[in-house]
Amino acid sequence: MTQRNRLYPLLVVILSLFFVAGCGATAKKDIATRIEESNKPVITWGVKTDTNLFGLYNIQNQDIKGFDVDIAKAITDEITNGEGEADFVEVSSKTRISLLKNGNIDAIIATMTITDERKKVIDFSDVYFDAGQSLLVANDSPIENVESLEEGATVLAVKGANSAANLKKHAPQVRILELENYSEAFTALASGQGEAMTTDNAILLGIIDQNPGYRLAGEAFTEEPYGIGIDKGQDDFLEEVNTALETIKKNGVYDEIYDKWFGGLM
Ligand code: GLU
Repeated sequence: MTQRNRLYPLLVVILSLFFVAGCGATAKKDIATRIEESNKPVITWGVKTDTNLFGLYNIQNQDIKGFDVDIAKAITDEITNGEGEADFVEVSSKTRISLLKNGNIDAIIATMTITDERKKVIDFSDVYFDAGQSLLVANDSPIENVESLEEGATVLAVKGANSAANLKKHAPQVRILELENYSEAFTALASGQGEAMTTDNAILLGIIDQNPGYRLAGEAFTEEPYGIGIDKGQDDFLEEVNTALETIKKNGVYDEIYDKWFGGLM
């Protein structure tokens, strides 16, 4: 054998090892199995951190608080019989699906509407919250509802949300400016870069709660049923999440969490 021929078998072995290692890295783990096999299971949830009432980060105690966070903790408790832990990772409307797809999080619980478009890419739990899209305006604004938006008015929305597309259908006369997240969108509204901001009424109520100079303009003009986003191929985990959701709706835990965040507001 020449020197070169002797090296071939070695090369084949090395390349096969790389191939096997590569497959291992990309194959997605079954979440339900991982939870079952661990004696201190952790479920990683993607939550908003800039959305008052749903997921808001508090710098002082480095904690994220809100309805979505509490529901995630209650579901984690149910699935792991109180033995597991809920871990939280920040997502935005724009990043949530790719973070789920990349395996950075096990589930999305982040004000996300169940839509047919999204169902092509991920699965959803049963509905856990009913919202509807609305408009936020300054208290002294002449805008009363979606119909009273004037031709060429600028409305602020957020990238990755379905709000811009929904508004285009209801008010094709307006110009929509999409920002990175809700803090940026509200800052743009407050600094006069738009006449209104649009997203779900519950999120807008959270903004009003912190900024009393603003109000909702008109009734909700869409239905936005929120679901927990889970990657395709995680059917056992999806079933566990749905069973846990059903249990907390029946045993009063869901109502307690709902009242804690929305009692008096909705
Ligand atoms: N619920 C809407 C959506 O899923 C708007 C809120 C959000 O972006 O999270 O697109």
